[in-house]
Amino acid sequence: MMSYDDNNIFAKILRGEIPCEKVLENDHALAFNDIAPQAPVHILVIPKHPYESASQFLQNAADSELVGFQRLVGEVVSLKVIHDSGYRLIANTGRNGRQEVPHYHVHVLGGRDLGCMVF
Ligand code: 5GP
Repeated sequence: MMSYDDNNIFAKILRGEIPCEKVLENDHALAFNDIAPQAPVHILVIPKHPYESASQFLQNAADSELVGFQRLVGEVVSLKVIHDSGYRLIANTGRNGRQEVPHYHVHVLGGRDLGCMVF
């Protein structure tokens, strides 16, 4: 991707240059605990290939990557601790979405009442 920053923190995690607390992994995606959890369960799911945004991922990823990524999200939300009580998926994107790390990721939040959606 033209604009992708190879030095972003998730690229470094994928290259094994910095550690993460891995939760699950498949050929196309990695799930790990957020370093600053906003809820008792706060897991990030990222594709292994370099996509900056949701739109870049959804428009350019191969079908196998799309399926692999969504399957891993599915496995994460099937974890007993959040499956029964509910959870929220968030993908902050770009400036207005307040995306801090420029590698596409989905936040999986749960383990408490997450309150109302913010509009
Ligand atoms: P964003 O605002 O881009 O949607 O979310 C980025 C998330 O990445 C934040 O929730 C932040 O706590 C998390 N994060 C930032 N740096 C690291 C890191 O080095 N390791 C892990 N595990 N999470 C990180």
